Amino acid sequence: MPSTPSLLERISEDFADLTFENGQHFEWQPDSRTVVYDIDDPYFDAHLLHEVSHAILNHTKYDRDIDLIAMERDAWQLAKVEMAERYGVRVPASILHYDMDTYRDWLHSRSTCPHCGSNGLQVKKREYRCVTCLRSWKVNEARSCALRRYRIT
Ligand SMILES: [Zn+2]
Ligand SMILES: [Zn+2]
Repeated sequence: MPSTPSLLERISEDFADLTFENGQHFEWQPDSRTVVYDIDDPYFDAHLLHEVSHAILNHTKYDRDIDLIAMERDAWQLAKVEMAERYGVRVPASILHYDMDTYRDWLHSRSTCPHCGSNGLQVKKREYRCVTCLRSWKVNEARSCALRRYRIT
């Protein structure tokens, strides 16, 4: 993909306050303001714009899982419209939908009551409570943008 290095070069010049690092998968690390990229990603350009959009929107911490979903949606929105236009990159809708579906599935599995299968509400950062049987359960540390994705078939 000949356009890949040049987009990365342009982006790292335009966002000189961010650190760009090669890694296993795309990820935005707010603490060190680092965009980790995966040079082998088949949708390199789109994912790079997405992670930089997290940086532009200053996405850091969130309290509820649903806030993470909102951040993902906002970052894709910015990437798909303004960033894609600015850098002349096409962000295929399929990538965006696949990514958002991944987050929705993740949220669904976290919020489903392990006791009765009903839907639960998030009552603390790592705790849900069932609206039907009223029991609660713990969930893992919420995943960052690192979660995902990858094979779109
Ligand atoms: Zn239940
Ligand atoms: Zn993201």
